[in-house]
Amino acid sequence: MFIFISGLSPKIEEKESDKEIYCFHCHNTKKWILRKETSWISLFFIPIFPLKPHYSANCPICGLNHIITREEFEAGLHL
Ligand SMILES: [Zn+2]
Repeated sequence: MFIFISGLSPKIEEKESDKEIYCFHCHNTKKWILRKETSWISLFFIPIFPLKPHYSANCPICGLNHIITREEFEAGLHL
C-alpha cells in the first residue's frame, strides 16, 4: 500500500520597490516591499512543480497589500 504525502509549500521572494510610494492608508511615503509568492506542489516534502505565482506590494508601515502584475514586480513597481 502506497501512502502519498503531498501538499503545498510556499516560496516567497521579496525585494524593495525602486521608488518611494505614497500610502493613502497611513500617509507615509516609503519604499514598499514587493513580494512574489509561488506555491509548489510537493510530494514527500520535496517540491515538484510550481503553481502560478502571486505578486503583491506591501506598505512597510501599515502592511497595506496591493495585488500587482508580474511586469510591475519585475520593473520594481513604477506607479
Ligand atoms: Zn501604509
